Amino acid sequence: MGGTEADIDDFGGAFTLQRADFQALLDALSKLGYDIIAPTMKDGAIVYGAIRAVEELPIGWTDDQGPGRYRLSKRLDGALFGYAVGPHSWKKYLHPPERELWRAKRNGNAVTFKTKPPDKQKRAFLGVRACEIAAIDIQSRVFVDDLYSDESYETRRRNTMVIAVNCSSPAETCFCTSMDTGPAVSGGYDLLITEVVEENAHVFVMKAASNAGQAVLAQLPLKTASPADVASSRAVIRGAEQAISRTMDTEGLRELLQENPEHPQWDDVASRCLSCTNCTAVCPTCFCTTVADHTGLSGEESRRLQTWDSCFSGAFSELSGGSVRQSTKSRYRQWMTHKLSTWIDQFGASGCVGCGRCIAWCPVGIDITAEVTSLRAKPKKEA
Ligand code: SF4
Ligand code: SF4
Repeated sequence: MGGTEADIDDFGGAFTLQRADFQALLDALSKLGYDIIAPTMKDGAIVYGAIRAVEELPIGWTDDQGPGRYRLSKRLDGALFGYAVGPHSWKKYLHPPERELWRAKRNGNAVTFKTKPPDKQKRAFLGVRACEIAAIDIQSRVFVDDLYSDESYETRRRNTMVIAVNCSSPAETCFCTSMDTGPAVSGGYDLLITEVVEENAHVFVMKAASNAGQAVLAQLPLKTASPADVASSRAVIRGAEQAISRTMDTEGLRELLQENPEHPQWDDVASRCLSCTNCTAVCPTCFCTTVADHTGLSGEESRRLQTWDSCFSGAFSELSGGSVRQSTKSRYRQWMTHKLSTWIDQFGASGCVGCGRCIAWCPVGIDITAEVTSLRAKPKKEA
């Protein structure tokens, strides 16, 4: 998934769209029946929502992120995609926070059950970053490629067009280079865009990787990308790579975590962690849910809802006799060990794509990369 030298050089068959024509892309998607979901600004953050006009993108804005910190600020140019990732991820659409599994109605002594048909609306995700494509791939392993397939997720994914954007402005919290997931997009997309903003030019270098992507390109006023456009695109990707300074040493990490359930670092992080669940809500790969029945007061109707849940909540591991993980220490250890170690045993890949969301949106600034460094540095507790 990660951006390699070969990906950076792979601009064969690319076209150029002028900034003045970008609305034509949105119009073409609408004409082809897609709901366009894209970055937009709300409540001081860049979040994902439905748009129809180019002006609804965060034009000329960027994000300043750090442990427990997220702020928007103006850029000096009019870039459409000059920021990293915010608190939302695309799982909001593919694996919604709340989903009705069925609804039951009583008629006398009979009960009828109804399930909603799968959501077949065509959606175009515009502005998907390399790490986010990796996250979608990971959730697809969980929901589609596993022993049991989730028809609801599978239908949404099948009807989604991925319009990827190569990162130009990574945040201080990004570490996709350590997880081999970015910043260059190397697959998993229908259309790929590289935004080039220079003194006298503002263009989008575009290429298609599917028939659906080709059908969109066919509607646009494009020119074959010039050697200068391709050189500028490569420079954007190289600049993003060079701007990423945060790292996570993944060498032997799977084994390190499984061999250290009693490491003193778990007490250290537990003294700071609030068990607030923010990190799991913002993480694009976390997928845990709970199910609850909601019955009307008359007893005539009942609904079963699936909602996002978190391994940081006490109720998540509640069994008869109490919660399996009663302490914050055991919850943080479970989350991080699953994410970076046992996830590999289950799904054949790490559960972390290096997007940095959990670092920025942790209210006390707990940094998963720093926790890995501390686990390596401190002597482990003798058994
Ligand atoms: S664990 Fe943190 S950095 Fe890794 S994918 Fe989840 S939110 Fe992103
Ligand atoms: S690590 Fe941070 S975001 Fe996650 S539960 Fe603890 S305090 Fe909340």
